[in-house]
Amino acid sequence: MQDHVLVVNCGSSSIKLALYGPEDRPIASALAENLGTAEARATIRTNEKTAIALPDHSDHEQGLAAIIDWLEANRMLQSAPGAVGHRVVHGGERFSESVVIDEAVTDAIEECADLAPLHNPVNLTGIRAMQSLYPNVTQVAVFDTAFHQTLPSHAYLYALPRHWYEDWGVRRYGFHGTSHACMLQTLSGRLKQPSRSTSLISAHLGNGCSITAIEQGQSVDTSMGLTPLEGLIMGTRSGDVDPGLFDFLQRKGLDPTTINQTLNRESGLRGLSGKTNDMRALEQASLDGDEHATVAIEAFCFRLARYIGAMMASLTHCDGLVFTGGIGENSVRVREKTVARLAMLGFTLDPERNRSHGDGQQGAIHADGSHPVYVIPTDEEGMIAADARTLGAQNV
Ligand code: AMP
Repeated sequence: MQDHVLVVNCGSSSIKLALYGPEDRPIASALAENLGTAEARATIRTNEKTAIALPDHSDHEQGLAAIIDWLEANRMLQSAPGAVGHRVVHGGERFSESVVIDEAVTDAIEECADLAPLHNPVNLTGIRAMQSLYPNVTQVAVFDTAFHQTLPSHAYLYALPRHWYEDWGVRRYGFHGTSHACMLQTLSGRLKQPSRSTSLISAHLGNGCSITAIEQGQSVDTSMGLTPLEGLIMGTRSGDVDPGLFDFLQRKGLDPTTINQTLNRESGLRGLSGKTNDMRALEQASLDGDEHATVAIEAFCFRLARYIGAMMASLTHCDGLVFTGGIGENSVRVREKTVARLAMLGFTLDPERNRSHGDGQQGAIHADGSHPVYVIPTDEEGMIAADARTLGAQNV
């Protein structure tokens, strides 16, 4: 298909949109924020950054329409795109790959909203808005959970009454699947071997963080669970806590909504440091002598190293430990502190390669003789665009 492709990622009050050209290269990206408020605004990035006006209290549909109008007026998009790819957070057990969206698919996304109440409804809003803007264009759903549908039952079941799983779907689903799949694809490409024979540990460390064990091309264990709250320490999310905490805090007078919001928005690096969820700012604060920032970084790396150790139990061999996401790709210190705890597992970094993020080394940052460790930039939007293009071409 020689057309352009749009990638849409709707959050509760935001839209990220990317426009890909016929050669699969991103041409423009847009970010609309504060939707539904008087401060609604959007910026478009091409070679330069342009702010575009949105009406007060613009909703998602108005935001998308304004961005597309701008792309058309500036001749970036001269006809309808060949396909639109949508990031959808939760596909439950229904979706193990990307699909062309029809009514049955939107119904299923709606049914999964129970599992992702903050995400799926707003993902659907984006889908419906694009369907009304482009009624004849193939819309494709790409699920964060799909890549993890290969998890074996011993990895996805919680040790809880079985009927909670059978009646309510209480199990581990895993998220960031598009990014982990991107690591598999990129590493197998670099190693010039098929993805079905590639095994790795993929650590996606951004504002959200998750780690996945991929054995012979399949996700076999992952740190996020029923929701994206479980596992690693994240920007504002706690990751693992003792489930006994909930009863304890309720006896202290906190209601479940407050507890949930605190675990999601006020915990993680922000909670530990009492300052910020931004790793770069924390590293600076730590250098300036802020002890809470230092402890937050230490705890982040400790939890991560512990999880890397745990993920090794799911692999029979490891072609590489891969760091990605804003922190994984950029933080020399996090990689250094984490891998320093893994010498017993056979991982050691080369300090110079780590400092240069593996540039000129195909991303490799390990010392000679170590198990391989790589830095690989993630490209979730590119993965979504590729699926949209493929499914769009099959659907003409
Ligand atoms: P993401 O969600 O993938 O955009 O990642 C955001 C996180 O990456 C934030 O915590 C940033 O502070 C962090 N990050 C970005 N650049 C750097 C850097 N140079 N050093 C440390 N952390 C960084």
